[in-house]
Amino acid sequence: MAWKSAAFGPFPPGGLQALTPHVTAYYTEAYPCSNAAIVRGTDATLVFDATLLSQARALRHAVDAAPPPLRELVISHSHNDHAHGAMYFTPPARAWASRFARDRLAYWATRDLAPFAEEMRALNPELAAEYAEVRIVVPEQVVEGQAVIELGGGVRVALYSEALAHTAGDLWARVEPDGVVLCGDLWFNGHEPYLGNGSAAGSLTALRHLRESGGSVFLPGHGPAGQIAADPDEPMGRYCRWVMERTSEGLARGLSGESLRVAVRAEFIAQRDRPGGIRFIAEWPSFLEDAVEATEEEQRSTPH
Ligand SMILES: [Zn+2]
Repeated sequence: MAWKSAAFGPFPPGGLQALTPHVTAYYTEAYPCSNAAIVRGTDATLVFDATLLSQARALRHAVDAAPPPLRELVISHSHNDHAHGAMYFTPPARAWASRFARDRLAYWATRDLAPFAEEMRALNPELAAEYAEVRIVVPEQVVEGQAVIELGGGVRVALYSEALAHTAGDLWARVEPDGVVLCGDLWFNGHEPYLGNGSAAGSLTALRHLRESGGSVFLPGHGPAGQIAADPDEPMGRYCRWVMERTSEGLARGLSGESLRVAVRAEFIAQRDRPGGIRFIAEWPSFLEDAVEATEEEQRSTPH
């Protein structure tokens, strides 16, 4: 839905956009609007992030429409809009994830997924109705630090793991020789970022790592591919710093919990329409409140 906004430009046919000779971006048009990528070498094809349900089936269809065969699936993190479509790729693909994401998926593999269907119902009832068929894939390939996957013909995907940022364990990838960086939800472009399961400070560190990778083009977890602007202008980085600053200031004034979240929301609304204010083409209800809650917890537990 957000992609249809004129500010993002026209939605590409089938959601597919060739970024470089070996990398194609896959965008999903409906909520939750998560992105994936197809990387093709001469021997094997890799999928970075699975999306979910009918969006994942359409991605698998696109993967199988050209050689070489699917062999690898990288799951950037355990959130459902990136991980719950894994069943459409694995098998045959080997699935890769961080230890944290693997453990989260192992937890959900044995539990009722009704809470996910419920959450989806308000924003995309069609996907919610399909949720009963989800089988969670628990990745067997755990990445700690770095890993490299060779796809043949000199095409290789280097994987890097981050500490607490978007979640407590996200992977990102750099595809060679193309220089494409696949960011997962460590970077949101034009979409308000979700920090509620992670850390604003950690997200700034991850953004720096992405930027310093020197990629030629960056695919975010949500929003169109592009460049990560330099500090201090990059909107997600500005948002992270702003949330940290307003949370810290609110705590210093004696606010906490609900009163802090209400105050920061009011401040966000007040600043967003001012010239140069922080705003996103796609903003989501409660993302800011969740970010403030996580930041409050982090600032209370970190000695200043
Ligand atoms: Zn996410």
